[in-house]
Amino acid sequence: MNRVKCLIIGSGPAGYTAAIYAARANLAPVLIEGPQLGGQLTTTTEVENFPGYPDGVEPFTMMDDMRRQAERFGTTFVAGIVTKVDFSVSPKKVIVEDDQEYEADAVIIATGASAKYLGIESERTYRGRGVSACATCDGFFYRKKTVAVVGGGDTACEEANYLAGLCEKVYMIVRKPYLRASEIMQQRVLTNPKIEVLFEHNTLQLTGEGKVQGADLVYRKGEPDEEMRHIAIDGFFLAIGHHPNTELFKDFVARDAEGYIIVDGDSPRTNVAGVFAAGDCADPHYRQAIVAAGSGAKAAIEADKYIKSL
Ligand code: NDP
Repeated sequence: MNRVKCLIIGSGPAGYTAAIYAARANLAPVLIEGPQLGGQLTTTTEVENFPGYPDGVEPFTMMDDMRRQAERFGTTFVAGIVTKVDFSVSPKKVIVEDDQEYEADAVIIATGASAKYLGIESERTYRGRGVSACATCDGFFYRKKTVAVVGGGDTACEEANYLAGLCEKVYMIVRKPYLRASEIMQQRVLTNPKIEVLFEHNTLQLTGEGKVQGADLVYRKGEPDEEMRHIAIDGFFLAIGHHPNTELFKDFVARDAEGYIIVDGDSPRTNVAGVFAAGDCADPHYRQAIVAAGSGAKAAIEADKYIKSL
C-alpha cells in the first residue's frame, strides 16, 4: 500500500498542471498516467492556440514540457490505469492495474474524454481496418488514398485539413447544411481543393472486402428528395465529439446525464470532500487545453487547502 497526500489521475494538460501546482505546494503528488500518455491532445497535429508558443507547437513536445515541469518539482509518475476507486473512505483508495493500492488525502480526477463513434455495426467490423478516430495516429497509412472524415466541428475540420496534406482526396460527411467549426477552421476546409464537403449526408454503412473500401450514405434523410449515395474510400475517420472518461467514479461522484462530473460552480470541488475534477472530464462546454490546464491549477490549490484543513 502506498500512502500519498495528493493523487492525480490523468496525464493531459489538467493532470500535469495540477501536478505542477501540487508539487510546488509540497504535496509530493503521485500522477497515474492512464492509457494515453499526454492525453487527447497528443492525437492532434499542431497546437496553435496555447499561449506561450507563438509559432505553434507539436503536441508531444508541449505535453513533454508540462511533464518535465511537474517532474522538476517532485511529481512521481506511475505508468498504469486506475481500475478501481473507493471514495467512501478517508483516506481515499485508488487501485492501479488491480494490484497497486494507493491511499490519498485528496484525489484530482483529470481523466479527460474519448472519441465518440456513430454506433453503426460496420464501424466495429472495420475498426483498425480502415476505421479510425485519430487522423494524426493513422493518417500516414492513407497517403495518396481517399478518405472520409465524419463531423462538422473543429476536430473534423482539423482532421480533414491534416489528411488533405497526405491523401489524394478527403470527403467530409456533415449531417447539417452547415459546419459548426470556428470561422478560421471552416475557411481552411472550404478553400482546400482536396476537400469535398458533403453537407446533409449521414453514413448508413461501410463496405469492403476485409477492409474499408466504400461508404453508403444517405442525402437529406427523410426529405422528399432523399437520395442514396455511395463513395469509394480507403479510410473512415470519426470526428464527432467525445464522451467523458468517468465510468470508474460513477458510484461515488455525481455526474450529469452525459457523464460529465458535476463540480461546484466555478470550483473543481465534486460532491465528495477531498475529490476534485479538472479538465474535459468535467467540462462539457469549452474542452480546450488551456481551460483544462487552468482547472488543473484550481484543483491543486483546492486540494492543498483541503489537505491543510484535515
Ligand atoms: P463538436 O461537438 O464541436 O462537433 C461535433 C460534430 O460532429 C458536429 O458537427 C456534430 O454535428 C457532428 N456529429 C455529432 N454526432 C454525430 C453523428 N451521430 N453523426 C454525424 N455527425 C455527428 O466536437 P469537436 O470534437 O469538433 O470539438 C469539441 C470542442 O473542442 C469544441 O469546443 C471545439 O471548438 C474544440 N476544438 C478546438 C480546436 C481548436 O481550436 N484548434 C480543435 C478541436 C476542437 P452537429 O453540428 O449536427 O451537431
